[in-house]
Amino acid sequence: MKVMKFGGTSVGSIESLRNLKDIVNAEDKPVIVVVSAMGGFTNQLLAMCEQAQQRDISCLDGLEQARQRHHDAIDGVVVESMRAEVHATIDRFIDESLKPYYLALATNPHMPVDEIERVCDAIVAHGEILSSAIVTGMFEDGVPHLSLNFMRTQRDGAGRVLDWEETGRLVKEDFADLTEGVHVAQGFISRDKLSGDVTNLGRGGSDYTAAILATLLDAEALEIWTDVDGFMTADPRTHPDATVIPQMTYAQAQEMCDAGAKVIYPPTIAPVAMKNIPVWVKNTFNPSAPGTVIVN
Ligand code: ADP
Ligand code: ASP
Ligand code: MG
Repeated sequence: MKVMKFGGTSVGSIESLRNLKDIVNAEDKPVIVVVSAMGGFTNQLLAMCEQAQQRDISCLDGLEQARQRHHDAIDGVVVESMRAEVHATIDRFIDESLKPYYLALATNPHMPVDEIERVCDAIVAHGEILSSAIVTGMFEDGVPHLSLNFMRTQRDGAGRVLDWEETGRLVKEDFADLTEGVHVAQGFISRDKLSGDVTNLGRGGSDYTAAILATLLDAEALEIWTDVDGFMTADPRTHPDATVIPQMTYAQAQEMCDAGAKVIYPPTIAPVAMKNIPVWVKNTFNPSAPGTVIVN
């Protein structure tokens, strides 16, 4: 079984979602697909949190644009028999969850700081919740999973870390029946082990979710599907002469990620390296390119 993670640009347009579908359909099943929010939507959700805190109710306009973007994607890629249900899911999360959260932020000037943080964490989780509903609906044999049910974090000083023990137990339960189908889970999102509050693994954290699942479920490979041909000698946005590195060791990849190579979120490497699971970096927009493999 493979874990295939698709980043924001890979789920960000009808064209890229169609590529995703072809890439996943070419695999032996079962397969686990981990998705990010549609490209740019996480930033947008957070910018709207800022707006709402300034009592700027026009943040709700942004929500309507996002609604339209998700509905357009559904019409472009979701199997016909599932479309009505997925449209309704998107509307329900926007109307019954996101809107009330934004209104609470915008209308409560005395909200304590930790409550603001709690509400914004709950809001930002919707990026992956909405994109995963669409991706699940693209496959006749799509099986939805909710990462909030099995990813557990705990407080660690000012930040949060994964609780491996509790997450391991819950992941094995949630994926107990992994015999066929396309299993779709949200990257990035989690819950606090003690409070049950919605939390996340940090910006870019969907890679880490995929690595955690691959490690706990002994996947044969972890594939990071993104918008470049592989792990490159430098960021091609700033270094147009950068070239793809066909093969790297975990240590080399870790070093480059720690130095800021955004293509993989740094905590992703260690767990898969411990289990010797190969990591592939591949381009959703150019799937025939060989990509990069990261091994021992
Ligand atoms: P995704 O949304 O798929 O997770 P990211 O934007 O997080 O994608 O990561 C992919 C981006 O990482 C590329 O578009 C590229 O600009 C940037 N990047 C930075 N350093 C590197 C590198 N060494 N090799 C490849 N891409 C890199
Ligand atoms: N959607 C989250 C972010 O933009 C997580 C991810 O894409 O990996 O940071
Ligand atoms: Mg990323």
